[in-house]
Amino acid sequence: MNRMGGMTTDLKLIDEKGLRLDGRRPDEMRPLKIEAGVLKRADGSAYVEWGLNKVMAAVYGPRECHPRHMQNPERALVQCHYNMASFSVDDRKRPGPDRRSHEISKIISEALTHVVFTEYFPRTSIDVYIEVLQANAGTRCAGLTAASVALADAGVPMRDLVASCAAGKVADTVVLDLGKEEDNFGQADIPVGFVPRTNEIVLLQMDGDLTPDEFDRGLHMAVNACKKVYEVQRDALKRRYAARAVDEDVPAPAEEKQEVA
Ligand code: UDP
Repeated sequence: MNRMGGMTTDLKLIDEKGLRLDGRRPDEMRPLKIEAGVLKRADGSAYVEWGLNKVMAAVYGPRECHPRHMQNPERALVQCHYNMASFSVDDRKRPGPDRRSHEISKIISEALTHVVFTEYFPRTSIDVYIEVLQANAGTRCAGLTAASVALADAGVPMRDLVASCAAGKVADTVVLDLGKEEDNFGQADIPVGFVPRTNEIVLLQMDGDLTPDEFDRGLHMAVNACKKVYEVQRDALKRRYAARAVDEDVPAPAEEKQEVA
């Protein structure tokens, strides 16, 4: 039996060969695809497919912050609005905000605030909308990953992108990027948000129980996965930039300049 959050199952989350329900090795991430600039009316946007998760992020701003009493005269507010569509999960989700969506909106806002140069835009709000169209565990990581690509697509100045991935513990094994059954019936889940350029962790949560050694191994696994997520984010932005350059008939950015002797 496996349990997290009190749920139990007879499912064999790790088989005799050490493989998981969907055939992944413990340190294997689900397939990840990112496309930047998918929405015409947003200032920036990104679409992420991560395993069975499908998440859209749209950015508006920096724009005047309303209501005015929320304005900060010294910096911009990064305000994330995470929403899970009612059709995104098996049991229809009641539409509208709930405690979980408030929590996820808050932690993603905080993670993004660490990388945005908020001091450049006093009194403004940078609004980030995350819409989960299909959910299969790990939507906060997919949402944060999509949101930082959407911010870059909007041209918001940032220290770096935030890349995100979770690790956890399933059937006494430390694993990367938990799927739905692993999230429901596993023993622990640690979502991580990482800034590769500065080596900072800007999101870290833990649900369940881990020994200090398991926690270290899980965190290490998640940070390494974030570095891979980062490459996919950058590729999406490069493709977007190249497509825009063709549309606007401007030269694409030069590849790294070779030193000429
Ligand atoms: N979930 C659900 N209904 C809900 C909330 C969550 O079916 O009202 C599912 C959904 O697949 C989600 C997963 O439970 O991805 C795990 O949710 P959690 O709160 O751990 O956040 P996430 O892993 O998505 O960041």
